[in-house]
Amino acid sequence: LLGYVGIEAVLDQMRRKTMKAGFEFNIMVVGQSGLGKSTLVNTLFKSKVSRKSCTPSYEEKISKTVRLQSVSHVIEEKGVQMKLTVIDTPGFGDQINNNNCWEPIERHVTEQYETYLREEQHVNRRRRIPDTRIHCCVYFLPATGHCIVPVIAKADTLTIEERLEFKQRIRQDLLANGIRVYPQKEHDEDAEDRAVNDRIRESIPFAVVGTDKEHQVNGHKVLGRKTKWGIIEVENVAHCEFANLRDLLIRSHLQDLKDVTHHVHYETYRVQRLTEGPP
Ligand code: GDP
Ligand code: MG
Repeated sequence: LLGYVGIEAVLDQMRRKTMKAGFEFNIMVVGQSGLGKSTLVNTLFKSKVSRKSCTPSYEEKISKTVRLQSVSHVIEEKGVQMKLTVIDTPGFGDQINNNNCWEPIERHVTEQYETYLREEQHVNRRRRIPDTRIHCCVYFLPATGHCIVPVIAKADTLTIEERLEFKQRIRQDLLANGIRVYPQKEHDEDAEDRAVNDRIRESIPFAVVGTDKEHQVNGHKVLGRKTKWGIIEVENVAHCEFANLRDLLIRSHLQDLKDVTHHVHYETYRVQRLTEGPP
């Protein structure tokens, strides 16, 4: 019917706009003290994402025991700026009775939605609302024990066999308890999505290792951890699944995490809030 319209030029325009504006991405890490959360956050910033600047972190005390610590880096690649913020939750789950340990975390997530909603409702709303909504939550599971969370911390302390067995058990627990983890099947958009996400679902929970040291391996400097079996290379997929986690968060699924946050979770909050009134 029509000849060449040139719609694809819109992609260039969108790209140029995004490049100019940059974007925000917020990850929260949750788990007991000593599981290596802070180390993994540092590993994430040190691994193959180049850093441009680091804003001093803020700290917010949200209960007697759980604090929220946030670190932001502006990462720039090929002219695109990403403000990556990681919110750490030291003290989470450290009490004897952890029945209510979710509350401060849940409250924080909800508060960010409320802040966003208020900004949207201003008559003269800002063109770009600062986005502090949590796009992804990474749960740390001790490499011993039996609670249900989807990354296995300090995986270097397990043998390969133990790791596989542990993974199986966690997957059974998740299923048995109806705990749905990302990426969820019902949000797969097409066959291609499904294929990619099935691969991730099959390997969840990722067995991760973090480090603050570099080691010399075959003449190269690599991020690694010395163990009795030798050096575990953090970014080597034959050694652990840190790279899978990083790729999921920062490379392959970043935009999807932002979309799901905005169109599913925030949208549910917004509809509920506007029909039922303030919390
Ligand atoms: P957080 O309390 O969860 O933030 O834990 P930290 O990052 O402070 O780490 C606690 C301790 O565990 C430190 O001594 C780290 O060196 C160590 N650690 C961190 N990541 C790993 C890991 O992947 N494997 C092992 N074996 N130890 C780790
Ligand atoms: Mg810590």
